Amino acid sequence: MNLDWSAEEEAFRKEVRSFLTDNLDEELIAAGRLATSVYPDHEASMRWQKILHAKGWAAPHWPVEHGGQDWSAAQRYIFESERIAAGAPSLSPMGIHMVAHVLVRFGTPAQKARFLPRILSGEVFFCQGYSEPGAGSDLASLQMAARADGDAFVLNGSKIWTTHAAEANWMFALVRTAREDRPQKGITFLLLEMDSPGIEVHPMLMASGEEVQSQVFFSDVRVPADQVLGTVGEGWSVAKYLLEFERGGSAYAPDLAARAAQLARFAAGEAGGDGRALIEDPHFAGRLAALRARIRVLGTMELRLLSGAQKGASVGALSSMMKVLGTETAQALTQLTLEAAGPRALAYQPHAVRPGGPTPLHEVPVGGYVGGEAWQALAPLRYFNERAASIYAGSNEIQRNILARAVVGL
Ligand SMILES: Cc1cc2nc3c(=O)[nH]c(=O)nc-3n(C[C@H](O)[C@H](O)[C@H](O)COP(=O)(O)OP(=O)(O)OC[C@H]3O[C@@H](n4cnc5c(N)ncnc54)[C@H](O)[C@@H]3O)c2cc1C
Repeated sequence: MNLDWSAEEEAFRKEVRSFLTDNLDEELIAAGRLATSVYPDHEASMRWQKILHAKGWAAPHWPVEHGGQDWSAAQRYIFESERIAAGAPSLSPMGIHMVAHVLVRFGTPAQKARFLPRILSGEVFFCQGYSEPGAGSDLASLQMAARADGDAFVLNGSKIWTTHAAEANWMFALVRTAREDRPQKGITFLLLEMDSPGIEVHPMLMASGEEVQSQVFFSDVRVPADQVLGTVGEGWSVAKYLLEFERGGSAYAPDLAARAAQLARFAAGEAGGDGRALIEDPHFAGRLAALRARIRVLGTMELRLLSGAQKGASVGALSSMMKVLGTETAQALTQLTLEAAGPRALAYQPHAVRPGGPTPLHEVPVGGYVGGEAWQALAPLRYFNERAASIYAGSNEIQRNILARAVVGL
């Protein structure tokens, strides 16, 4: 097995590098470097999306006929590695990485023409309305009612944990249009506008001190029937297809490798209590080396899986394996990073410690203190936010259940 990149792939890397150098400015780099989770700063990310869109790279993994580039898994991997090394922000996943694939597979020609170009340009920004107060792991028990009324559905109920609901202008939502013998039946997948009369968004304060998620309340919200994606009452298969992209649509390893390299650089320069660099502590060095080896293996596995997937398709149930391994490796990395940052991590004061609320991100200096490295100050936020990664997109316990059934055949 040859693990080296080919000459074409190395040439592609150069092209990506020079594009990033020419197009990133300090503000975008600060947004990338200060990101505390997979959810990017909204404004910076949208500005970066427009720059990528002008180059045709906003969704390079999409099929060419819909405005993508049909990039191979290796190209995507290289692009992500270079993007993170350069400090560029990520793009919000809900449109480009999730519902777009569902539109390609289940959408009518009119829906594709209406939404795909606007997702690419950023004009349409989606949030995900799956979870409800009584329906998380057991998603099929969702209750949000959608009553047919002429050429529309009328929605009543609530969605919770909705990431970026306050910023999004569209939501894709699972609603109940019928009650049948099995809870999976009678669910419909709808696209709806967030400024529809009857919608209220209530932001939620998370343990990290940030307000990225919201609870969204619906009272007699009318949604035109031509905004159903797929067939009425058969939204469960549409919903499951989207989740395969949410869990394993792209590789986790490029981001993890870049963050582990950053930690290694810090550890090589940092003197501990005895004056030795942290990396000379055999216990720390051993844990970091084991983690970097695990990330390397993860990357190879992801490349293999993503390269093997049919063009434009997902990796199927194996997306659950990518999610479990990717998020648990990320949690081990944020744990080690928090330990390495030590007391410098206290520079960021979460809600509980700082009267008046958490330190706003724009007040956390990028350089100038803690040895010029904001990441140490942000280590607690990343630690807290990474705990959520084994919960969102379906908890890792549920992913193990899926793997046991769909892959191992238990
Ligand atoms: C940061 C964050 C962002 C999110 N963003 C969104 C979003 O944008 N849109 C959206 O719709 N949802 C979102 N969610 C919600 C997320 O999908 C749910 O939190 C998740 O599916 C778990 O559901 P729950 O919180 O109701 O926990 P529960 O379902 O109540 O689970 C509680 C615990 O029980 C375990 N458990 C439950 N059932 C089983 C079982 N059968 N076998 C083994 N263990 C089990 C779970 O693993 C978990 O540990 C987000 C969540 C978080 C934390």
